[in-house]
Amino acid sequence: MISVVIPTYNEEENVPVLYEKLKGVLDSLNEEYEIIFVDDGSYDRTPEILKELADKDKRVKVIRFRRNYGQTAAMYAGFEYAKGDVIITMDADLQNDPEDIPKLLEKLQEGYDIVSGWRKDRKDPFLSRKLPSRIANWIISRVTGVELHDYGCTLKAYRADIAKRFRLYGDMHRFLPALANRFGARVTEIPVKHHPRLYGKSKYGIGRTVRVILDIFLVKFLNEYITKPLYVFGGFGFLLLCVGVVIELYLTFVKLFTGEDIGGRPLLILGVLLILAGIQLLSTGIIAELIIRTYYESRGEKPYVIDEKINLEEH
Ligand code: UDP
Ligand code: MG
Repeated sequence: MISVVIPTYNEEENVPVLYEKLKGVLDSLNEEYEIIFVDDGSYDRTPEILKELADKDKRVKVIRFRRNYGQTAAMYAGFEYAKGDVIITMDADLQNDPEDIPKLLEKLQEGYDIVSGWRKDRKDPFLSRKLPSRIANWIISRVTGVELHDYGCTLKAYRADIAKRFRLYGDMHRFLPALANRFGARVTEIPVKHHPRLYGKSKYGIGRTVRVILDIFLVKFLNEYITKPLYVFGGFGFLLLCVGVVIELYLTFVKLFTGEDIGGRPLLILGVLLILAGIQLLSTGIIAELIIRTYYESRGEKPYVIDEKINLEEH
């Protein structure tokens, strides 16, 4: 069974067109399927339109969030309710093309766990979207060691057990290939089509690329140093602090025992800087430790609140 998960935020014109196209493609596969729309707090007619679709077609399922929690939370909720062995994610705005789904599935069948779309010919503004994304993709590839051209492409196919394994937050849905790879998942990419947005406006600008890059460092950090931030920051901070103190002690002795003037020495300034930097890093380590403990404690909660579910069983 195939589950298609689609985060939807104010996409009233797009949803009906997408549904028809998607249905055409999925029907031709001769497999069982479900389409899970996760309405991320839309305030246009999207919720009513989804309801109508779900009334007519029981394979259309709807999760409606109480408010806007973001695309990642929406995907996370979709993953939780998905019943398929394969999960496909895509945007609701028809920038991804349902016609690419069979190709993704074929690739998955070759033995991959995640097949990621690559918008080789991306139809978004260059300066505000494509260029920042290219930089972000480069950084993410370097940091994670999983080299994909297009982490940001929502059109992806996952083996369900892999997709369901992770708790997603921030902008993290795009790092699933990198996270899963750490657990031995086989990841690949194939070129997919990309269309300009027909109706409605993009919900993102350049600020989101910055968030994405910060996120990846956080993810890397959480994965590798999760138990020892105090050790990483604190150890280095402590070292700097010690060197600084030794320098200042040395200078104090010079002053006391030889009477030489130490005021103009670069070493004096270096010592002060090291002490300050050391204290800063140490406190960063302590704060990081606190944050990580809080993070662990908060892991029990879901990052969204559901208002209504249609065609979905309680779980
Ligand atoms: N989206 C969402 N919640 C949000 C923002 C966006 O569910 O807070 C959905 C949106 O409806 C669309 C997809 O995420 O289906 C991608 O959004 P958008 O097209 O605005 O992003 P872009 O294609 O410009 O990167
Ligand atoms: Mg879009």
